[in-house]
Amino acid sequence: MEHPENSEAYKGLVVNKGIEQPSSVNPYLKRKPKKRLLSAAEFVEGIVKGDITILSQAVTLVESVKPDHQVIAQEVIEKCLPYSGDSIRIGISGVPGAGKSTSIDVFGLHVLEKGGKLAVLAIDPSSERSKGSILGDKTRMEQLAVHPNSFIRPSPSAGSLGGVARKTRETIILCEAAGFNKIFVETVGVGQSEIAVHSMVDFFLLIQLAGTGDELQGIKRGIMEMADGIVINKADGDNLERAKLAATQFRNALHLFPLPDSGWAPKVMTYSGFYNIGVKEVWDMVYEYIDFVKDNGYFEYRRNEQSKFWMYESINEQLRDSFYNNPQVEALLREREQQVLQGNLTSFVAAKSLLDTYFEDLKK
Ligand code: GDP
Repeated sequence: MEHPENSEAYKGLVVNKGIEQPSSVNPYLKRKPKKRLLSAAEFVEGIVKGDITILSQAVTLVESVKPDHQVIAQEVIEKCLPYSGDSIRIGISGVPGAGKSTSIDVFGLHVLEKGGKLAVLAIDPSSERSKGSILGDKTRMEQLAVHPNSFIRPSPSAGSLGGVARKTRETIILCEAAGFNKIFVETVGVGQSEIAVHSMVDFFLLIQLAGTGDELQGIKRGIMEMADGIVINKADGDNLERAKLAATQFRNALHLFPLPDSGWAPKVMTYSGFYNIGVKEVWDMVYEYIDFVKDNGYFEYRRNEQSKFWMYESINEQLRDSFYNNPQVEALLREREQQVLQGNLTSFVAAKSLLDTYFEDLKK
């Protein structure tokens, strides 16, 4: 008997057999074929035509860690290189709350008034945790996000700062090949990421706030030295006088620095991103700088230096990865580390032994 409840002992309860349930998957539905990955040539063709969907897919490929994606990505970048470079690249940095999003929204609209196309990219060292959602999030730049000539892309999220920065730099090339002639690279003001942004832009704009009178203490000298322009945001309402005072303090501090290689003495200005006051003046300054360094040859010099820098960065990164991912090295690394910690080996001997192991393994 199938159901004990149907036995004579039970009264009043009958359990019917029930019917077979249909499968929850529609058997007539054809499996969607997996989308074929475009070839490098197809990517390049789409990018050069200015196809935003293809550009986005190419950027995703650049950001991918899969080796086969990287092979295509590198080919696409190389083929896009001849179409790139005709742009101005601006780095924009400031601590959280300085008003970067608000400012980039109005700065972006301002530069687009002249025509052309704007790409907003980001380098966010914390994005590994936040999955790149903090910087470049479209909702933060409401007007730009819906502008037909803008392209906003969050920070690549995977890997080391060096890796993230390299991907952003490669994305710049793709964007330029797609006709984006203004590039903003945004970063949070925390130190290392500024150096990365500085190494890929023509002008580095530092957004500051008027604080409690000790503005200069919190900001590292190195970051100030990188800035081609310092702008004090939120120069509006009650804050106007304090912003002006902060500007004077920054100006005085900058006087103590030697003139940068560009020959351009960094300027300090106040503005209000929120109320759109002084935005034109900020951009007049940026354009004045670009004209100045194009005339004296520094513009090209800086870009060449950056290309050189990235060549070495790329070598360093790949050598490091190759070394640390080597199974022989991995097997020995902790042991040597312990020996160093216990004072049984000097750092140099331990390093040499690991490097020897690596080079021996390469010969095999
Ligand atoms: P981010 O973290 O640097 O991207 O800064 P946000 O653009 O998100 O701005 C942080 C806060 O400052 C927001 O509440 C903005 O509304 C405000 N804010 C930004 N720009 C200005 C400004 O020019 N004046 C004033 N008063 N507030 C501003």
